[in-house]
Amino acid sequence: MRAHGRPMTRRLWRQHEASVLAVTQAGFALLAIIFAYLVAGDMHAVVPGMMLVFPLFYSLTLTPRAAWRLTVGGLFLLGMTMSTMAYLQPAHYPAAQGAVHFALVAGMSCVITLVMSRCQLRYQQLVQEKCALQQALTRIHSLAIRDELTQLPNRLHMRELLEHESHRHRREGQSLCLAMLDLDLFKRINDRYGHQTGDEVLRRFAASASSVLRVTDVLARWGGEEFFLFMPNTSPQAALLVLERMRLHITHLRFSEIDPALRLSFSAGVSVLAQDEPVEAAIKRADCALYQVKAAGRNAVRMFAPAS
Ligand code: GH3
Ligand code: MG
Ligand code: MG
Repeated sequence: MRAHGRPMTRRLWRQHEASVLAVTQAGFALLAIIFAYLVAGDMHAVVPGMMLVFPLFYSLTLTPRAAWRLTVGGLFLLGMTMSTMAYLQPAHYPAAQGAVHFALVAGMSCVITLVMSRCQLRYQQLVQEKCALQQALTRIHSLAIRDELTQLPNRLHMRELLEHESHRHRREGQSLCLAMLDLDLFKRINDRYGHQTGDEVLRRFAASASSVLRVTDVLARWGGEEFFLFMPNTSPQAALLVLERMRLHITHLRFSEIDPALRLSFSAGVSVLAQDEPVEAAIKRADCALYQVKAAGRNAVRMFAPAS
């Protein structure tokens, strides 16, 4: 988890915080230079002051271990440079002043690397926690509105969508058709091939049935092996055609990885939502039509007819 988390965190860090980082670094760099100038009182001190800028840059962007390596390496190079300059130009760079500057830079570099590495680690932890939280929130939201098995809207979400659509239907007076679908003899599939295969068949059904619908149609999982469909702005004849097309598509599905002989079919009852009628009444009629189909032998689509 940690091994996988770190590169992602670093990527996020670089993507989102680059501008904040640049401003912070520039601020710290300026402070370091002013501080070095004020302490030593001449421009030579600005050079070691500038050296302090580097730990700030790399401790924020590198891993703590690499930052420490660079600190030690940088201090070694600075020490060597100062000793060489003190040796070559003793008048401009007295050894004692060089030693003071070096000690100052070394001390501050170590403090900066330590503090910044700690800050960076803590920041990475916070980014990771934020990512995990966002993933959890996305999952909670998805679980609240989607059926986990088929990824279709669940019954609760479907009701919200349907309520919303029924208000529009009332306002605009367009035809809204509903359908209740039930897979035929699904228990036999479970009994014969097991529950897991049954789940796979449900997933395949959901994907195949959705593929013949228009974007405005909503197919939802009602529960078990029952599904619910509503088709806004659709006449009863058009709704029957859509469901008939879906029925043919499903009967032609092949499950060669499970059993080449396996066939799937569904029965569906259709109803039309009347103006000023609660959706519950239309759902009941669709359910009634569905059971008429079941009683008549399954694998068919039927519009609710009170007399039949
Ligand atoms: P009918 O044609 O009359 O509808 O017969 P049926 O066998 O489809 O209906 P029945 O109500 O007897 O059985 C429905 C079965 O659906 C029983 C249940 O185990 C199965 N089922 C419900 N939900 C799930 C699910 O999420 N996964 C799987 N694998 N099976 C499920
Ligand atoms: Mg059923
Ligand atoms: Mg069934």
